[in-house]
Amino acid sequence: MSDRAPASSKISSLILRADVRIPPPKGPARQQQCCIEGVNAIEKAKRAYGRALGELDRLFPGVIAQLPQTPPGVNKIPRGHGRSYGKQRVEQWFSWHYRLKAAGIRTKANASTWRQAEQNARESLKHAVAAYNWLDDLIFDIPPSSEILLDCDVKTHIFILDDAITEAHDLVHRTGELVGGIFGCRLKHDKGDWKSECQVSISHLRFGFSPGMLVRHLCNVCGIDPGDCDHEVGEEYMSTVNRFEGHCNVCSKAECSHIIGSAIRLVACEINTGIEIQEVSLVARPRDPLARVSSRGIDNEELIDFFGFLPDPAAHLLCHECMYPCAGFKYLPDHQELRKYF
Ligand SMILES: [Zn+2]
Ligand SMILES: [Zn+2]
Ligand SMILES: [Zn+2]
Ligand SMILES: [Zn+2]
Repeated sequence: MSDRAPASSKISSLILRADVRIPPPKGPARQQQCCIEGVNAIEKAKRAYGRALGELDRLFPGVIAQLPQTPPGVNKIPRGHGRSYGKQRVEQWFSWHYRLKAAGIRTKANASTWRQAEQNARESLKHAVAAYNWLDDLIFDIPPSSEILLDCDVKTHIFILDDAITEAHDLVHRTGELVGGIFGCRLKHDKGDWKSECQVSISHLRFGFSPGMLVRHLCNVCGIDPGDCDHEVGEEYMSTVNRFEGHCNVCSKAECSHIIGSAIRLVACEINTGIEIQEVSLVARPRDPLARVSSRGIDNEELIDFFGFLPDPAAHLLCHECMYPCAGFKYLPDHQELRKYF
């Protein structure tokens, strides 16, 4: 798919985000959540991108019109021209990086504008990638040509799924090159290897990891596996306050003011005492659409390809890939291709 594919790379990944609502594995509720989150993320990405540009324009009036224009889409650059075109854009972006950064340190007020612009630019990329991940998940359930009608707050959105996915993809590249070109997308040297956390590049790896989970339940009346006791869920029983595996049988909290041993009338239910992750598998559709690869290793061949030399481990290296034209997506299951990442 790509002539710039890494030859051997290690990846690390998020498996499950904590403290967020994870959608069900499939069905209309998942579709609904993916649609809403995707559309919201597109809006947030656009707003943050607009703010970042506005702030850069305050630092350097007229700059917006002079920044490199949005790169042509996937198919508009003939294969083989992508590299020279990419290198050209890196030069254009980096020349603005130096000019804008110089303006950004001139006064205290400028420094604060520069920081805000950076924050907004990075936020816009994060939302653009999230939008792509939410919307692309829908492809597993419904055809890309589907018309989607979505009622959010006061606005009704009607759109073709494929158009929204294209818009999110375009935003990933647009916001990504602003981040990489002006604020820098740093490559990190870690335990002898260079690694990239470039969200533009990583968002093109279309796989993630899903956990196989075991949720442990106990009967709140007797504290054993609900399958092994005679208490009927929903029925009332006279019992005493107790703690089962550290969870109160009245409120199921780990810490509370219920006094152990006092008599209580209980409606039988199942207490969830914890989630145990049993195995993790590599999947095209992670259960949590945003739990994806977070970094990938870069080997020497790729480093030489981008920089023309093997950088010193202490070097301050900025990623170029986010300014290159799109090199396409990498999908499962191509085991030959995948072996490169382990
Ligand atoms: Zn990058
Ligand atoms: Zn029981
Ligand atoms: Zn309690
Ligand atoms: Zn792309």
